Amino acid sequence: MISPSGAGAYRGLAGGAKMRAFFDAACLVAGQGTIVQPNQIIVVPRISSVPGREARARKVLRWLVERRIVEALPTTCGRGPGGMAYAIADGARRVVQRPERLPFGQPINGLEIVTERCIYTPTREFAEEAGCPECRREIGTVLFDSLETWMPGETDNFTCPECGFEDDINGFLFIPACAFSDLAFVFNDWAEAGLLDAFVAEFAERLGFACAQVRVDC
Ligand SMILES: [Zn+2]
Repeated sequence: MISPSGAGAYRGLAGGAKMRAFFDAACLVAGQGTIVQPNQIIVVPRISSVPGREARARKVLRWLVERRIVEALPTTCGRGPGGMAYAIADGARRVVQRPERLPFGQPINGLEIVTERCIYTPTREFAEEAGCPECRREIGTVLFDSLETWMPGETDNFTCPECGFEDDINGFLFIPACAFSDLAFVFNDWAEAGLLDAFVAEFAERLGFACAQVRVDC
């Protein structure tokens, strides 16, 4: 089952207003004496409109299940509307840098797949800065304002106000990473564990598009 669901990063319209807030201030998760701040690491293809996104999502999910990274059937271990997600499984330990930080045994621990158009920006120290890959100038203010036309699907592209370079908005430079897409994979509370680069590379290969990783603190 792959259904539209919610991730935690819906920001970026003019003024930085939160577009959608599924998660009210999430409570702290206590685990083995440590307090873990609720978080998400979100893997997003760097393309606005993913062709055949439902089929691609199913293909990636099958691969994750075969490797026992997540369970095959959704349960209530997510954070979006309804809370359904694919629960963490043993193989997850092999694809992260710090397996001891994975949310095993926690009520929220699973993968949610978002198949609606969304904006993903980091929640930590995010200044709405962006650069043009062509002229290298700072164009963040105009770019983030332009999301008002990107979000309803009027365009996938952005044009640099300084030099006229046009590309899919994901082709511009974002540090830290941002992403804009109608497909995303939200790993709940996996951010502290840190996905291995090799895993993200293989994930991107299976999906068919380069991916950004966006960290959100809920
Ligand atoms: Zn430019």
